[in-house]
Amino acid sequence: MAASSDDPSPTDGEGDKIPVSRVKRRRHRPLKVANQIPQRRRKEIEKALEEPGSTPKKWSRSSDWKSHRIGRKLVKPGTIRQIEFDLMDIEIGESWPIPITVVHGTRPGPIVTIIGAIHGNELIGPLALTYLQSANIMGEGMAIDPSSVAGTIRIIPIVNMPGYRRSTRYMSDGRDLNRFFPGKENSNTTSRVAHRLWSELFSTSDHIIDLHTAALGRTNMPQVRANLANRLSNRSARAFGIELILDSEGPKGSLRRISDESGISCITYEGGGSDESDPESIQVALYGILNVLRGLKMIPGYPSRPRFRLLASGSVWIRSDYGGLLDVLAPAGSFVEEGEVVATVSDPENPGQMMDVKSPTQGLMICSATHPFVTTGTPIGHLIPITKAVKTVQRRLDEEGLLVLSGTDGEPPWREDEEIEDISVEGVWEGGSPDAEWGDNLRAAAEEEADEA
Ligand SMILES: [Zn+2]
Repeated sequence: MAASSDDPSPTDGEGDKIPVSRVKRRRHRPLKVANQIPQRRRKEIEKALEEPGSTPKKWSRSSDWKSHRIGRKLVKPGTIRQIEFDLMDIEIGESWPIPITVVHGTRPGPIVTIIGAIHGNELIGPLALTYLQSANIMGEGMAIDPSSVAGTIRIIPIVNMPGYRRSTRYMSDGRDLNRFFPGKENSNTTSRVAHRLWSELFSTSDHIIDLHTAALGRTNMPQVRANLANRLSNRSARAFGIELILDSEGPKGSLRRISDESGISCITYEGGGSDESDPESIQVALYGILNVLRGLKMIPGYPSRPRFRLLASGSVWIRSDYGGLLDVLAPAGSFVEEGEVVATVSDPENPGQMMDVKSPTQGLMICSATHPFVTTGTPIGHLIPITKAVKTVQRRLDEEGLLVLSGTDGEPPWREDEEIEDISVEGVWEGGSPDAEWGDNLRAAAEEEADEA
């Protein structure tokens, strides 16, 4: 029988069947982009992507592929090594060693540095990077197998060790490390640490993935921030496979801003809140990191793509007009309508009264307050207004109106097989095997029984 024109199993032109899922993704279901970026900025980005950038590095000279060096420590090709790196290079006193895991591949490729806890109390990064190194993901035959990696992956779960030890965002001198890059050798403590990190680790990277959470008192829906006019950052941000990308340059002195200015690709992932663990944010981080590594062709496979992508360049703040205690009804990740009550405020000093906080517009809550105490003017939510492709976004909402993010359906990759409860169902297969009674296998089953006897 001749295939009809809408045969669902197309070929690649040489008669070989392409796996249907890939074909569907690439040809029949073009990625929908709800583009929220104003036209002027969009043109800027397009122009930057068209410009012939600096000559791309060639990774083909395999004879040049030597051990990877950090300070005096060497990592041989095809191996994983954990080393310690001192935030301070000093003769006496606390040098603040931080652990770095280096996966040095067997083939030439880019150097990717993945970091967590540049803000010491943002724990999603350290958790995700610990799980990234678990036996389910890293090792022989796993997603990150040093014998098949191209390039070098440097994993630093905790950058700001002094802050992490004290459960604070800041360095020991109270400064924000992510505002002092590229740092100075002879300045204050934080600036010196920034300088050492920048000169020894970050400036020698091709790509940086910087994992963050919201600051204390709020929580972020998983999202990526990148300067989309930097072609490499743009590529990494898209490869991450996430629904929401915020186009921004990063604050002054931030690692992202300085990396961008130095021609190094850097994306920031934000998910969850400070001082808390959030399995979904961790799962999306892991999913995204593996996607970026696939996108850079450092590990095998194709990056997974989201159903749609919101490219946002602006947002709306929702503030409380009342003082009191907050009850958030539409947490980060909720899709809300214009005029919808997103939170209520009650005042213990005036019992019996409850005031509504309404959303000024239709959109997606990308950040919400977790601390209940508010005064008038306190932001309680951060909203991306959505005016285009509303249906596309709505189709991915769960029954509570929360966006279901790519990478969150299915079991978290760090769950070990041993944790799964085996439930025994007693019985005997009629006819000797699960499908035997359907007919085809009757004879085979009878033969099997005869063999066993
Ligand atoms: Zn942060």
